[in-house]
Amino acid sequence: MLYSGISWSADGFTVDVIDERGERRQPSRLFGPRHTQELIRYLHGFAGELTAVVDSTNGVLDGRMMAEGLTVYRADPQHLGERPLFAAVPAPDIAAAARRGLGALTRLERHRGTQTGREPDLAEFARISEQALADGTERRTCVSRGSGERREISLTFDDGPQPPDTGQVLDILRRYDVPATFFCTGMYATAYPEYLARMLEEGHGIGNHTWSHPMLFELTRPQLVEQLDRTNEAIAAAAGGRAPTLFRPPYGSRTPEVLGWLAESGLTTVLWDVAPDDWQMPGADTIATGVVEQARPGSIVLLHDSGGDRSQTVAALAPMIEGLLERGYSIVPVEQQLGAPAPAPVPVPAAALAGGKR
Ligand code: ZN
Repeated sequence: MLYSGISWSADGFTVDVIDERGERRQPSRLFGPRHTQELIRYLHGFAGELTAVVDSTNGVLDGRMMAEGLTVYRADPQHLGERPLFAAVPAPDIAAAARRGLGALTRLERHRGTQTGREPDLAEFARISEQALADGTERRTCVSRGSGERREISLTFDDGPQPPDTGQVLDILRRYDVPATFFCTGMYATAYPEYLARMLEEGHGIGNHTWSHPMLFELTRPQLVEQLDRTNEAIAAAAGGRAPTLFRPPYGSRTPEVLGWLAESGLTTVLWDVAPDDWQMPGADTIATGVVEQARPGSIVLLHDSGGDRSQTVAALAPMIEGLLERGYSIVPVEQQLGAPAPAPVPVPAAALAGGKR
């Protein structure tokens, strides 16, 4: 058995592979955020006897790894040492935790992703956040849907941008001349700025979805702020200096404290009221029908353009849009439903303009 620890940082992903005796099989390898396919090929090169392990602050790689047949585990904070401000714990430490006791880690399931086994935590934290969410909704620092005064609905796409799915989603939206909102991760905004440029050019909104897709309740406040700021910079650098005004929490993860930190960041937290669970791949028909049937004026629909095999989401999109248009909905970006000001140009650090890294 070989154990591969995979960490993330501003520069991409570092991969370390060790054997049962704890000895490195290869020197550490760094893969830039644009090179996830190479990373997956590299892991497949160890001929099937390898277990890949990510930590719980990394939700941007597991879906694709599992879609390509790799075995993936998640190590939680109690299995690892202290985390840096803006990175996972080092890859060798993640590999060592797996070698020490793989049974203590969580094997991820393809249709549950990095939240495998965390669903009760997510539900419980959501439950204790209900009052804070209601207060935030009142103050307009959080929303789950628009006002519904007009027959408008918003489609949102999380976790990208990444080829090929983001491009296919954009092609379909363009065919129907329908603008959406994309909640991008900083990791892939840095990797694929051309998609963000196209989103802006074609009238879409762009929101912040953190850098590495962590469970927010596991971050310290400085770690959360770093995820938000670096992602704002990456998006602004790719989008002509325009920083996002909207934020979507990965997994919808929240606590009253986190919602307070988010409100103070100045970003509006956007949840949703229609979720066809496209990431669980229930079938394109089910995804399209679910959205059309659940939609009501003001709805915000949660969809995904990255994070695994999104072929069903892509296949569902045309019938979904046709069904919504037939029912008289205008499909608009979330920003428009909320009457949010157009994203204002912000000063971008020179380092971010040079490639989003520093
Ligand atoms: Zn997400």
